[in-house]
Amino acid sequence: MQLLWRMRIPLATALVFICLWALGAIGAAPAVAGAVLIAAISLLDARPEKQSAVLGQQEQGSASRPGDAWLETVLAALPDPAVIVDQREEVVALNSEASALAPTLRRNEPVSLGLRVPEVLEVIRRVRSTRSAQRVEFFQRVPLERWYEAAAIPLSLSPQKAGADLVLLTLRDHTPLRRVEEMRADFIANASHELRTPLAALSGFIDTLRGPAREDAAVRERFLAIMQTQAARMARLIDDLLSLSRIELNAHLRPDKEVDLVGIVRQVADGLQPLAQERSVAIEITGATSPLIVLGERDEMIRVFENLVENALKYAASGKRVDIELARLATAAGAREARIAIRDYGPGIAPEHLPRLTERFYRVDVSESRAQGGTGLGLALVKHILTRHGGRLPIERTLGHGATFTAHLPLRGGDEKS
Ligand code: ADP
Repeated sequence: MQLLWRMRIPLATALVFICLWALGAIGAAPAVAGAVLIAAISLLDARPEKQSAVLGQQEQGSASRPGDAWLETVLAALPDPAVIVDQREEVVALNSEASALAPTLRRNEPVSLGLRVPEVLEVIRRVRSTRSAQRVEFFQRVPLERWYEAAAIPLSLSPQKAGADLVLLTLRDHTPLRRVEEMRADFIANASHELRTPLAALSGFIDTLRGPAREDAAVRERFLAIMQTQAARMARLIDDLLSLSRIELNAHLRPDKEVDLVGIVRQVADGLQPLAQERSVAIEITGATSPLIVLGERDEMIRVFENLVENALKYAASGKRVDIELARLATAAGAREARIAIRDYGPGIAPEHLPRLTERFYRVDVSESRAQGGTGLGLALVKHILTRHGGRLPIERTLGHGATFTAHLPLRGGDEKS
């Protein structure tokens, strides 16, 4: 009936066309075309009316039935999991993020069935009793450790009523933030510990030199040499820490200067010759001889290969040989990249250490690293530099037969020839 009423004008116009045709005033074709055109225009016109009628129904009903679609539409626009509960603490609306977080949350069912977190249920109750916004942090142990913040606010459907008809609850995952905070705290604790050790040694020697060894020239010389080593270790550690923070600061800036990796690797190998001779290790460079041009920061590239070759000389001197292989290859995706493999023939690395090797301060053997003058930051630096340059560092190990660290770096656009 409602539709007939809405169609009264096009129907009347169509009737006029039929009469005109019957009276012979116009032909059949223009009469049909005119009637169809007017019907189409009126249908187009009727459509928004139909939509707003549905919306109108919802708006009308929303005062009594708050779970209607518009609440869900609002929740869908929120980035965090969000749930609206009514006075009976039943869910009236929720977004897909909330369903993903708590799959057992269902509309028209108690919120406590889907969200079994006492802190959250308590916060909802507090909002209803105090009629003010409330927040709480909570921690979940299973299936994975996660930290959340729940924020709940009262919603009143009628402006006249000041009470909380509904409660809007949103949950924010604070886990990534907490992990960063933990990492920062761990890092500061590790850095302080690393600095405290040589510092304690230095002050111990100062006390001895002022006291018992005061008059003993030979002991003084020996202690001063140790003190110098400890001071150098502190300087190296501070240097590595500063480099790390500088690289992290520039992590989002891709370097744009052209550097030749062949030249850099040769320069690094030459510079480490004295250490190689001291350890009776032969360094051999094989592979590409034409330049391998990448977009990079020269000093950082030197740092990468210095760290990798120096590690091979420090931890794998027993193999007596370090091979550096330069290659130009295509990735699975078809991009061209430079691969510099540093292979040693020392003791290798047990598989359980590989995933953590590039973490700051991670060492396979702390006392050996210290004895070799290591800071535990070398591979962390290498990884950060390579990441900044769009590269990566796969590590292979052959326990008992040595380790291979391969730096992969994207070749500069024009350097495509094999
Ligand atoms: P460090 O300053 O201790 O050398 P790195 O980050 O450079 O720190 O290396 C981390 C650890 O990885 C080292 O302490 C060592 O245990 C192990 N490692 C690195 N390179 C090699 C290698 N070529 N062979 C065996 N172990 C290695």
